[in-house]
Amino acid sequence: MPHLLISGGTRGIGKACVKLFAANGYKVSSLSRTGKSDELIDGVTYYQCDVRDPGEVDLAVNSAIRSFGPVDVLISNAGISVSGLAQDFGFEDYRAVMDTNFGGLFNLSKAVIPHMVSQQKGVILAVSSMWGQTGASCEALYSASKGAVDSYVKALAKELGPSGIRVNAVSPGATNTDMMSTFSDEVKEVISEDTPLGRLGEPSEIAEVLYFLQSEKASFITGQIIGVNGGYLI
Ligand code: NDP
Repeated sequence: MPHLLISGGTRGIGKACVKLFAANGYKVSSLSRTGKSDELIDGVTYYQCDVRDPGEVDLAVNSAIRSFGPVDVLISNAGISVSGLAQDFGFEDYRAVMDTNFGGLFNLSKAVIPHMVSQQKGVILAVSSMWGQTGASCEALYSASKGAVDSYVKALAKELGPSGIRVNAVSPGATNTDMMSTFSDEVKEVISEDTPLGRLGEPSEIAEVLYFLQSEKASFITGQIIGVNGGYLI
């Protein structure tokens, strides 16, 4: 049984991935701060792990590997957003956003790469954001953290391709999850109007692209940032 290790599998986009992969016969290890999901899904093991902490990540990844074997697919999905004027963000905001959104990818990939290299195969996927490509007013830190994710994905793809490991990112537009619940209905309306397909995305629509990217159907795709944004960013 292939093994998916994913961060943030308890809610939103991560939870949609967990459901999709488990339904397709994957053993799934989900890492999140609470380790708790409101819905327990067959074939999924939940680990309490803060992806900002390299020690916690190593412990959780090693425990998952001991239980379910080598990680075939890593999805670095856990993320947080903060909104506000750039001049008002504090150092704590900077650390929280960078350490979660980019540090999570750094810590998780560092933990799985040696195992993937020794097997000469594996897939690493990151959930980025279209704001990492284009920048969002009042989300400067968030945009920068996702820009770092995109660059890291491209560099890792070059470094790990010769070892048979593919690395890609999915770059969602505004998607209906808890993360969007901090935005008012008016803001969501404006985003929908600015989106050619006229609505926000659903978590399952992001999960389907991640599933494709890890499959053999995507065997010649690496180093790409795939936009899933209803045409918001063209
Ligand atoms: P949610 O807020 O719905 O879920 C976030 C998940 O990440 C939760 O499972 C949460 O669990 C986990 N998480 C957060 N911080 C940490 C941490 N430090 N360590 C471990 N787990 C953590 O977010 P979304 O599903 O909306 O977002 C998923 C990804 O998609 C993020 O990277 C986000 O930036 C990206 N994205 C989202 C968009 C959107 O509009 N929703 C648009 C573009 C990109 P817990 O709280 O238990 O830790």
